[in-house]
Amino acid sequence: MTTFTDFPLAKSILRAIDETGYTTPTPIQQKSIPPLMEGRDLLGVAQTGTGKTAAFALPLLNRLGREAGKPDHRRPRGLILAPTRELAGQIHDSLRTYGRYLGLRTGVVFGGVSIRPQIKMMAQGIHVLVATPGRLLDLMEQDHIRLENVEVFVLDEADRMLDMGFIPDVRKIVAKLSMKRQTLMFSATMPGPVATLAATMLDDPIRVEVTPAATTVEKIEQRVLFVNKDKKRALLVDLMNDESIERVLVFTRTKHGADRVAKQLQKSGIEADAIHGNKAQNARQRALDAFRNGDIRALVATDIAARGIDVEGVTHVVNFDLPNEPESYVHRIGRTARAGAGGVAIAFCDLDEKSLLRDIEKTIRQSVPIFADHPYHSTEIANDPGTTKRPRQQGHRGRGARQAAAPAVAKTPRKPGGHKRARRPSGRAA
Ligand code: AMP
Repeated sequence: MTTFTDFPLAKSILRAIDETGYTTPTPIQQKSIPPLMEGRDLLGVAQTGTGKTAAFALPLLNRLGREAGKPDHRRPRGLILAPTRELAGQIHDSLRTYGRYLGLRTGVVFGGVSIRPQIKMMAQGIHVLVATPGRLLDLMEQDHIRLENVEVFVLDEADRMLDMGFIPDVRKIVAKLSMKRQTLMFSATMPGPVATLAATMLDDPIRVEVTPAATTVEKIEQRVLFVNKDKKRALLVDLMNDESIERVLVFTRTKHGADRVAKQLQKSGIEADAIHGNKAQNARQRALDAFRNGDIRALVATDIAARGIDVEGVTHVVNFDLPNEPESYVHRIGRTARAGAGGVAIAFCDLDEKSLLRDIEKTIRQSVPIFADHPYHSTEIANDPGTTKRPRQQGHRGRGARQAAAPAVAKTPRKPGGHKRARRPSGRAA
């Protein structure tokens, strides 16, 4: 069995890993770290939860830590781009953890907060910068950051960059990088524009693919509850009576929806908060911290805000709205069942969402068991074949968002009795 000491990593990094409590490298770490330490470019097809952050952070820290020296003003040697502030913050935390004995200076910049401390930080100089694309471009345009000394460039969650309309910004940033660099790109999925970007950015990359989706999904107890749109909030409040729901992440399609759901829960005496892009960074961080340390039971989030958030012990995930893309469903429910634990994923499905449910079932290659034993069960929705695409209520999508993958042909209705009836929607997996 491979251990971290099998990699030629600096002793100070091995010590930090040891103290973090990691013993065995995850599959993506096993496959990525050796070629990265040889200086190869890499295309990693992996989602959050696979250990991809350490897979790129350890070789990067090892390389730059060899001759740390004093950092140059404005000119980082390592650059990591992430689509959201939360993810950028978490990557930076990981760099600090793994690199704490290295003498490298690291920093993070993102929008939504004052730019002045970021300008000051860059003027003083840092070795490794984690950034979101928009704020990085602002700082570059004002000449507070220059990229010509970047030796290692990492683009994380490229597919989310695409969803959020950031690819043109990414291209502008890449154009300023030196050709003499090592480049790493990670993406959970490979839609066309991401594959094109990889082809232009990477030089003879090795491709490392880990597919935890199926195994993750298998460990999760899934349920679907058929409910009319206007009864969803009441249903959620009703479900929260179940005390086995200790820590629940609730996904809504819109920011507005997230606020409404959180408010309704609070009104019903349930500790809850919402996070989404319209909230100030410190309010988001407060909500996330409260959720992490158990002060609130429910965190309501949009996909984008929840991206990259890694909270231990999420017992339940509720898809208050079904996502347009089946892959998002897999990402969402993967927030429970972390680190080998089980978890429960509950989906609310209204009439308009029946076709989305069918797409999800096709993607995960299993049907989601129906739970009908609740006060708001709708037989009309249950009996609907879900083969008709109905116009969806206006969803919040970023620029350049991908369209939902609609099946071109109608599918035959599912055989009756194809679902196991579950007793409790919220009971934890064994
Ligand atoms: P990531 O996919 O980078 O977001 O990592 C997911 C989680 O796995 C994080 O909480 C990491 O701290 C944790 N992790 C990463 N590598 C390992 C490892 N080798 N052993 C145990 N946990 C790990």
